[in-house]
Amino acid sequence: MNDIYSKEKRSELMKTVRPSGNKSTEIALIAYMKEQGITGWQRHYNVKGHPDFVFLDKRIAIFVDGCFWHGHDCRNTTPKDNSDYWDKKREKNRIHDQEVTERFQARGWTVIRIWECELKKKNRALLEMKLRPVFNND
Ligand SMILES: [Zn+2]
Repeated sequence: MNDIYSKEKRSELMKTVRPSGNKSTEIALIAYMKEQGITGWQRHYNVKGHPDFVFLDKRIAIFVDGCFWHGHDCRNTTPKDNSDYWDKKREKNRIHDQEVTERFQARGWTVIRIWECELKKKNRALLEMKLRPVFNND
């Protein structure tokens, strides 16, 4: 409905992002930031920890985490088979996420972690609250 990209442009964008990234979630966040007039961000800035977005001037790193892979407990996404395997994998991701967050904070950065499910329209208020530090309110 309120999509800033045409279908063609979107599929083109989807092809260019790295396979490990959260394509649709990153694009949803980009759309939101454009809609809100948020500027000054860079995508996939090459720094250890690989945030999805950085605001270099504000020293803010944004990570958009997929609910399944990063172990959000918002819904039951654990497959019935091999649930131990998935639990271990997600636990590892969670620990890694935490380490990355701490590494950035230790250097004086603000870290914002956004869950995939928070990009849904019904969670806009929550998203806005989380992104408060990146709004251009001056
Ligand atoms: Zn979630």
